[in-house]
Parts: sequence; structure tokens; C-alpha cells
Amino acid sequence: MNEPSGFVEKVYVTKPVLPPFAEFQKHMKDLWQSRILTNHGPWNQKLEAEVKNFLQAPHVSIFNNGTTALLAAIKCLELTGEVITTPFTFSGTVHSLQWQNIKPVFVDIDPCSLNMDPQQIEDKVTEKTSGILAVHTFGLPCDVEAIGQIAQRRSLKLIYDAAHAFGSQIKGQPISDHGDISMLSFHATKLFHTIEGGALISKNPTMKSKIDLLRNFGIDQEDSVVSLGINGKLSEIHALMGCLNLQSLSLEKDKRRKIKERYLGRLKLIDGIETLTQDNSNESSQQYFAIRVNKDFGASRDQLYGFLRSKNVHARRYFNPLCSEIKIYKDIKHRFPQAEKAAKEVLVLPFFGELSIESVDRICDMIFWFRNSHIYSKSVEL
Ligand SMILES: *Cc1c(COP(=O)(O)O)cnc(C)c1O
Repeated sequence: MNEPSGFVEKVYVTKPVLPPFAEFQKHMKDLWQSRILTNHGPWNQKLEAEVKNFLQAPHVSIFNNGTTALLAAIKCLELTGEVITTPFTFSGTVHSLQWQNIKPVFVDIDPCSLNMDPQQIEDKVTEKTSGILAVHTFGLPCDVEAIGQIAQRRSLKLIYDAAHAFGSQIKGQPISDHGDISMLSFHATKLFHTIEGGALISKNPTMKSKIDLLRNFGIDQEDSVVSLGINGKLSEIHALMGCLNLQSLSLEKDKRRKIKERYLGRLKLIDGIETLTQDNSNESSQQYFAIRVNKDFGASRDQLYGFLRSKNVHARRYFNPLCSEIKIYKDIKHRFPQAEKAAKEVLVLPFFGELSIESVDRICDMIFWFRNSHIYSKSVEL
């Protein structure tokens, strides 16, 4: 095989879906008329109802981003002291604890799911521990049974960062059925987005009211501020974007399913490339397509990353550095061998509905060619 040529334009890991411009514009005209631009207006109410319906969620509170939503979830559950979490996540997960003077206590991950290893949680529980903040990394569900049992046994609150898991299901049940609160992110890089945005899914009306108060400065009625709060409100323009994007979500997921199938078929023929497996009884969010580059590949993940970049393929090394490697969280006493290995091996490939099957093939050809040429040049060196 000749060396595959690179893409003329940069190919990123995602490309946000947008609604037809004319449709967006039409509704924007109405906003110019109504002048209701925020404060939980009609588009926010519609989005909240539609997301609730789409996810079969008991209660949904829409936020201006996932991180503010997570801050509110932590306040709502009155977490303090220490919270057990994973080092293999986006820094925002862990910052939301530290921002409220809560110490994140890391546990290592399970090498298959890349999620928090439940077996290691209980060893980290101290009298200061108030909760668990688990992440459904890349949309693969955590071991919700095991984690839920530990939370119950040790009287800990349980939050799931479900930023990657919009629409994920576990054995036909919505993933947000688990834990006290689940957080969603509607950032432009996420499968479903409002450009910036997020949400909390809660279990009962009392909790939902508490969250909604936290979202709006603790303002109950016009002249009464009843509790602490923050500004977590999403603008009406962003909520409109969300309502329109929700309409094309199933189509986008179908396209991504086909792309994933193609990747899986092609990549399984390349030694040293592992794909992350999902239990067939679970519905995937189709958020990311991640691979692991193991020692059989002959070249390192970083070498492959550099090669792809030279071909204009902008794969991402999520989650490197680990949160436990970030200066403010680093504690050299603790090592996380599985997370450290994953941070060196995982590569997220371009994955979005507009990516053509030909492009998928070209990316796979690049990986295949790079492996073979690398191995060949090594044997020549010997
Ligand atoms: C995107 C993301 C967040 C943060 O969400 P924002 O909406 O960008 O604030 C938190 N956790 C994880 C795992 C994420 O991927």
C-alpha cells in the first residue's frame, strides 16, 4: 500500500450538528418580538419538557453549562469533606469539587470500561467522605449496581457525571435511573448540544425545586431570596438551538452507528488496536469513538497521534493528563496504574454524522499503513 495522502482540511473528532439556518432565523424573529430572552422563558420550558420526554427522565433542570449544573448538584446534596471520584475524566468533573473546598479522592479505573473500579471505592471511604462522583466515561455505563450498593451501605450521596451519556441505556433502562443526580453537558462538542448548556436529572419534586432555586440565585419569588444560589440559567437563544437540535438527534445517532460499524470492521484487522467494547444489552450514546493503542501496535499512541496530525486528522488524547496528574490535585503517594496506562493508550478518533464512510476508510488506511511502515523500519534498523 502506498502512503495514504492526508486530508486537505482538518478533520476534528467532532463536528457539531446545526439546524437549518432558515428555521433558526424564523424563530429568532419571534424572539425579537417577544423580548423574552432568558429567565426560564418558553424555549427553556419546552426544552426541559422535551429532554425529559426524550430521556424518560423523572425531573430535568436545564442549565447554562454542565459544570455549573455539577456545582449545583454538589450543593443540592450538601456534599462536604471528601468525595470519591475518578482520575480518568475531564478536569471540569474534579474542579467542581475543589471549587467548593471538597477534596477529590481518586480511585483507579477498571481497564475494560475505563470507569471507576467499584472494588477500590470502599478502601477510600473515611469519616469525611460524603459522596461518590462517578463518570460514565465515553458513554460506557459505570458498574451502577456495585457503586449504588456501596453508596447505600456507606450512606454516601451518589452523583453521575453523564456528560458523555445522553440517551445511554442500561438493559433498556435510562442511565439516569441510577444515583441521586445525573449531570448532562450540552456543550457544542457533545452529541446533543445547545452550544453551551447542561442539565441535572433528579429523582423527586423536592430535589428538583431545590435545584431550580440553586440555579436562580436562590430567588423563590420576586422579593424573596430563600437560599444560596448561582446563575445557572440558559438563554432562550440557546434553548431554541437545543429544541431544534433535538429534532435531528436520532438521525445523527443513526449515521454515527454506521460510522462506528465501519471503524470496528476495519480496525479489528489491525494488530495492536483495541476498540472499547460495550455490552450489547446496553444502548450507546454514540458520543465518542475511542481506541486503545497497545504494545502490539509497534508504535506508541503518541507516535500514531503525531502521524495522524500530519495527515490533518486531529484525534484527541482524552484524558491525558489524568486529573491526578494536574498540579493542584497531584499527590505522589498515590498511583493509579490502570488510569495511567489508559492515559497513554487511548485515542479518540473523528466521529460525527457528516464524516463519510470514505473518510473513515482513509483514516483506517492511515493507521494500517503507519503500523506496517513502522514495524518495517524497525526491522530494518535491527
Ligand atoms: C464536557 C464535560 C463536562 C463539562 O461540561 P460543560 O458543559 O463543558 O461545562 C464535564 N464532565 C465531562 C466528563 C465532560 O466531558
